[in-house]
Amino acid sequence: MRRISIFGATGSVGSNGVDLIRRAGGPDAYHTVALTGGRNIPRLARMARDLRAEIAVTAHDELLDDLRAALAGSDVRAAAGTQALVEAAGRPVDWVLSAIVGSAGLVPGLTALAQGGVLALANKESLVCAGPLIHAAASRSGARILPVDSEHSAIFQALGSENLDSVQDVTITASGGAFRDWPLERLAAATVAEASTHPNWAMGQRITIDSASMFNKAMEVIEAKEFFGLRPDQIKVLVHPESIIHAMVNHVDGGSIAHLGAPDMRHAIGYALNWPTRAPLPVSPLDLARIGSLSFRAPDEIRWPALRLAREVMAAGGMAGAVFNAAKEQALDDFIAGRIRFTQMSPQVESTLACLAGQSGFAAEPADLETVLHWDRAARQETAAWAN
Ligand code: NAD
Ligand code: MG
Repeated sequence: MRRISIFGATGSVGSNGVDLIRRAGGPDAYHTVALTGGRNIPRLARMARDLRAEIAVTAHDELLDDLRAALAGSDVRAAAGTQALVEAAGRPVDWVLSAIVGSAGLVPGLTALAQGGVLALANKESLVCAGPLIHAAASRSGARILPVDSEHSAIFQALGSENLDSVQDVTITASGGAFRDWPLERLAAATVAEASTHPNWAMGQRITIDSASMFNKAMEVIEAKEFFGLRPDQIKVLVHPESIIHAMVNHVDGGSIAHLGAPDMRHAIGYALNWPTRAPLPVSPLDLARIGSLSFRAPDEIRWPALRLAREVMAAGGMAGAVFNAAKEQALDDFIAGRIRFTQMSPQVESTLACLAGQSGFAAEPADLETVLHWDRAARQETAAWAN
């Protein structure tokens, strides 16, 4: 029986992963080693009981007693805190879904990679801030990384066994998020509630706001470069409001291979779960006659300055990805807390990048985890100071 773990099981991607495991037979089909979560103890405990996990971990030390109480009478062990999370990630499994949000997913992901097996990677932040470390860890242990971002899963599937030499470039699509059709002058007054609604995808709040600002797409452009080893000029973004085509691989001979599907994360998660084969998934089949038409437009870098920042980050290399991600996470915290406006997130991130680019060590590729965490902390501090 395949051994699996899910980090960030209680979140949007994690819950979809748990749902797939449950539908496939739960504990009769998979041996669940670790499930991790945050503050939603009832959900974490319910999932751990259902899948008969060996261990359930909350990231918050102070919630250990609550988790123990919620698991009373079951065989699931309860644990809490960052160290417990890393220990759980060190338990060898055949397949792990890395679905923690933010750079908090980096250390558990690296720990899991050191054990080998398959890392189904939803946590794009870890590739953006430490791509070379992720690849090095995978090649040391022989672990295989599979993409669980819909666009990257789409590129992976469209590429098939094709050689990268035959690829001209790739197109990743973007719905445009909540403010795609808003007049530009209204954006400065956008509220957190307005930014937290997505036209097509049901996702966690942070990535939903990042979709409205296109920081999510900016992260995905860098993720594509890191994941597939593409040149920055080979990654194009196309606004596609219906979110039916997730990505296209455009070949040197002028032909393009697109991946289509209903906007449902269970496709990308299930593809990574069943890879290298395919199995039926609880995803609605595509009904193009009902959808009627698909539309496209060029991305607008005045509305979405994050797309320009992504190119600058890729050109800078070195620690720019780690700084970009941490500054973006801090700017998002500041927006959610009401300290800055929606339209101030990009200038705030840009200012942090400009400030830290002058410091020694910025241009070097990350040598180790400590270096990445150092730049992550520095970027958060610099960004937080901007808002005050
Ligand atoms: P979410 O907010 O719904 O869930 C996040 C999970 O991480 C929760 O289980 C939470 O408890 C846990 N978590 C949060 N902070 C933590 C910390 N400091 N330490 C340990 N655990 C912590 O997020 P989501 O929307 O499911 O996104 C998860 C990841 O997947 C992100 O990297 C996101 O970019 C990526 N992703 C999400 C989607 C989507 O459809 N939601 C699509 C593609 C990629
Ligand atoms: Mg995506």
